[in-house]
Amino acid sequence: MRIGIVGAAGRMGQMLIREVQGNATAKLGGAVERAGSDAIGRDAGELAGLGPIQVKVGADPAALFDACDAVIDFTAPAASIVHAGLAAAKGKALILGTTGITAADQAKIDAAAKSAIIVQSTNFSPAVVLSFALVEEAARRLGPDYDIEIFEMHHRHKVDAPSGTALSLGRAAAKGRGIDFDKETIRGRDGHTGARPTGPIGFSVARGGSETGEHNVMFLAEGERLEIVHKASNRQIYARGAVRAALWAKGQKPGLYSMRDVLGL
Ligand code: NAD
Repeated sequence: MRIGIVGAAGRMGQMLIREVQGNATAKLGGAVERAGSDAIGRDAGELAGLGPIQVKVGADPAALFDACDAVIDFTAPAASIVHAGLAAAKGKALILGTTGITAADQAKIDAAAKSAIIVQSTNFSPAVVLSFALVEEAARRLGPDYDIEIFEMHHRHKVDAPSGTALSLGRAAAKGRGIDFDKETIRGRDGHTGARPTGPIGFSVARGGSETGEHNVMFLAEGERLEIVHKASNRQIYARGAVRAALWAKGQKPGLYSMRDVLGL
């Protein structure tokens, strides 16, 4: 299985090169950066801190798609649209982790998935994706006697709150409980708040230091508490999940898939 990496010099790109190189069933089919990048012409292994692997970083994504079975893309929305078009034109697989995709761009990705195999996820950690399913199921089975509270903690540089993953966990809980997420949440408490109402999903947030990310979904009832907790200690989990998705994509029919499909959920 030949896997190509676009955005090879990026934080995720370098991790992806290391992950493909360390995977016995995958082979690095090539690596590409944006035109003008200092990384072009450098050895991809050296760029990723592995030492030379005789794969030079190129600037031609079309040639990369020709040389590979699947391409992994953690770059920027404008680039990812181009890559989705190339995957469609060449009938290849694209593993898409870029975030911040607008609805208009998503429509182009959806169209490309008519002829390409696209696995798209805003979180490629298999454990996080599984936790969405666990939270949905717990909310469905436990019912409204259990108050749902979601706590998340991230490093001091994170600018948005709650995290996108916390909101996805909330949406999964709302789906399981059968409530409208957009209307039934509590976002932060301060002062005389009154007693907790039954039903809405509560959020709380901590920021500080270098925490990679922790999410804790609590189901609280009289006399007991169930917690579904995920703790990330580095971003390699996303690269590992993306390589797993690339290996899974081999032999699939064209279409738009998610990590839920990869995990068989
Ligand atoms: P980064 O800025 O470190 O890396 C992005 C790289 O893409 C850069 O090297 C840039 O030069 C390159 N690039 C931009 N345009 C390009 C083009 N046209 N062709 C080739 N390369 C191009 O960013 P990062 O931290 O690695 O994150 C990249 C993206 O992945 C972001 O959207 C981020 O939110 C997302 N991300 C997703 C997950 C997930 O699990 N889905 C996890 C981590 C990051």
